Amino acid sequence: MSDITAGTIANRGDAPPATPIATPPVFVWPPRPAALAKFLFGCPGYFLPLNILYMGLAVLTWFAFTPSLVRMKTFDADWIAIVYAQNLIFTVLVYGGLHLRFYIRKAQGTRYMLNRREPTAEHSRFMFGSQVRENVFWTAFSGVGIWTAYQVVTYWAFANGYIPMLNWEVHPVYFVLLFCAIPMIRDAHFYSIHRALHFPVFYKRFHALHHKNTDIGPWSGMSMHPVEHVFYFSGILIHWVLLSHPLHAIFHVQQTGLAPALGHVGFHKLLTKRENVYSIGQRYFHFLHHRYFECNYGGDGTVPFDKWFGSWHDGTPESHETMRVRRAKAHGVM
Ligand SMILES: [Zn+2]
Ligand SMILES: [Zn+2]
Repeated sequence: MSDITAGTIANRGDAPPATPIATPPVFVWPPRPAALAKFLFGCPGYFLPLNILYMGLAVLTWFAFTPSLVRMKTFDADWIAIVYAQNLIFTVLVYGGLHLRFYIRKAQGTRYMLNRREPTAEHSRFMFGSQVRENVFWTAFSGVGIWTAYQVVTYWAFANGYIPMLNWEVHPVYFVLLFCAIPMIRDAHFYSIHRALHFPVFYKRFHALHHKNTDIGPWSGMSMHPVEHVFYFSGILIHWVLLSHPLHAIFHVQQTGLAPALGHVGFHKLLTKRENVYSIGQRYFHFLHHRYFECNYGGDGTVPFDKWFGSWHDGTPESHETMRVRRAKAHGVM
């Protein structure tokens, strides 16, 4: 057992997370076409299963739940309330569902858990004396509120023709390509804002709130300071300048709103009642960020800025040592 995994209870007889954590074979040289095809079309891969689910949810939202563009030409409490309610319902289902399974029903106990302790601390450093209550508060009010505000203004701007709206019948190939590229655009944006939030001036004021969660759970994912939420959801602004359709914006903002639940689940495998074990993605990657702060600023590494800028922690002792030296140099300890 390495120094990195020591102390986590994932190792009570279960396989630890696979290391080294590798970057997906997208931006690699020389190109690896076979590996890229497997990543794009395999399962788990770029599309399957998660991004297909988010894409399906966006399509369902646009066709079944979104008020007409004519109605959204003017701001009106009725349709704005519908959008907020949708987002809140999706949030409760996804964040609450994962929390219920892993930490209330404890469906797999501590098997494959990354945390040292469950993310349900009762302590005065949290608002209301409770980690979960604080996490839910910031998620439901600030998180879903700012998410909805961006979405509402974007709908309104599309409805009034203030931003360019793509006609998918005229540009079907561009429509599909942009739709498929959104998770990568999101990954690059997340690295950029998250890296900035670790500058001391922003960290102390805003991002430290998210890092109160050293043991992470689904609700920790969007437990952020309102200013961080403004940064975090700002990726949707790309649709104000890039020719796109409201469906692109919905997919973008919903994935931004919902992905942190699984990203902070605190487990690296799903264990079923029949003892089948399934991967739930590279959950160890962001867990290491919460444990060591100054590494792994990006998402799942599809756009591997962490690798390019030297902050990639792949979970190995060698990578840990590299981070330790880099951190010591940055803080002038050496
Ligand atoms: Zn986090
Ligand atoms: Zn951070």
